[in-house]
Amino acid sequence: MSDEIYVTRSSMPTYEEYTKAIKPLWNSAILTNMGTYHKKLEHELIHYLGVDNISLFCNGHMALELAIQALGLTGEVITTPFTFISTTHAIVRNGLEPVFCDINPTTYTIDVNKIESLITDKTSAIIPVHVYGNVCDVEAIDRIAKKYNLKVIYDAAHAFGVKINGQPIGTLGDASIFSFHATKVFNTVEGGAVVFRDKELGAKLYKLKNFGIESTEVVDMIGTNAKMNEFQTIMGLCNLKHIKREILKRKNVIDKYKTNLDGIPGLQILQMPKDIESNYSYFPIVCNENEFGASRDDIYEKLASYKIYCRKYFYPLTSDQECFNHKFDNCSIEIARKISSQVLTLPLYADLGLNDVDRICNIIIKMHSTKNNKFAS
Ligand SMILES: *Cc1c(COP(=O)(O)O)cnc(C)c1O
Repeated sequence: MSDEIYVTRSSMPTYEEYTKAIKPLWNSAILTNMGTYHKKLEHELIHYLGVDNISLFCNGHMALELAIQALGLTGEVITTPFTFISTTHAIVRNGLEPVFCDINPTTYTIDVNKIESLITDKTSAIIPVHVYGNVCDVEAIDRIAKKYNLKVIYDAAHAFGVKINGQPIGTLGDASIFSFHATKVFNTVEGGAVVFRDKELGAKLYKLKNFGIESTEVVDMIGTNAKMNEFQTIMGLCNLKHIKREILKRKNVIDKYKTNLDGIPGLQILQMPKDIESNYSYFPIVCNENEFGASRDDIYEKLASYKIYCRKYFYPLTSDQECFNHKFDNCSIEIARKISSQVLTLPLYADLGLNDVDRICNIIIKMHSTKNNKFAS
């Protein structure tokens, strides 16, 4: 097979299904501004996600940026550098200072034992990330937040539909954000949402995403434009119909990876605790060069030579990115730095063939055995 394999591929309805669904929209000529389908998607997502309140956005980043603004965060925010750049940008673009906390070496989420030492009188919130759909230590975070009177916003971009001990992930903290980007488990092409407990936050978010408009002649808030349009909401309604099947297919892919790669020396595979109902969003491996016999970059390049394109999520750490010009990189984040230099996310999407998974794994396994044979001879 000569076809390229990319790290991800969007889940989509059939062309016929989507065009049939947009027909009434086309006839109505009401394309955006929180119309019929927008309301319908909000309603269906509240049900699917098991949350009380939701507000849809043009993308996940604006959802986070405006959630931070709506909750009135100030000063310093404790967060993780092991995430997509969006998390850190959303903090900095709100005029706040990200304070980077190290991560747990097995779950890759924020290390709750290191949060308290970073709290100062300027700290207003914690923004942890359920990275790869792995759930943070939410109980400990809740305890710390209550003790120091901090707000908690979860970046749940990777955790659509995830549950812990049967509890929907979106019910935790003051708010959580989801991303419905084309590359995520559930997509609206581009899109996102804030889910939240306090109903009053909804009016604020609504205004912020709609230019701060209070009524036809009154604008009483400096808002922006971050609305989700009706082509996006209909894509979401179509994709939501198939979400269970798509997640099951992703599970089969991950099961296949695990069967092939479990127990190979030097490769750490993401383990989902039993109490988590996963959405199987990513499959990261962490490669210890000394034990495996080749580095993360070696695997990346070897697979690329077979036209299999992985991603080094998340490398570099967001704290180290050029745009921040060393302003926020003086934190003690050794574990995050180590994992970041060793991690590789392998291709994963619903339609990835199990024979392709075998092929990918065989290439990786061979790198290990080749090196080992050399040591043996
Ligand atoms: C995808 C993603 C976002 C941003 O979502 P968009 O919908 O692409 O704007 C934020 N945080 C994390 C961790 C992400 O992976």
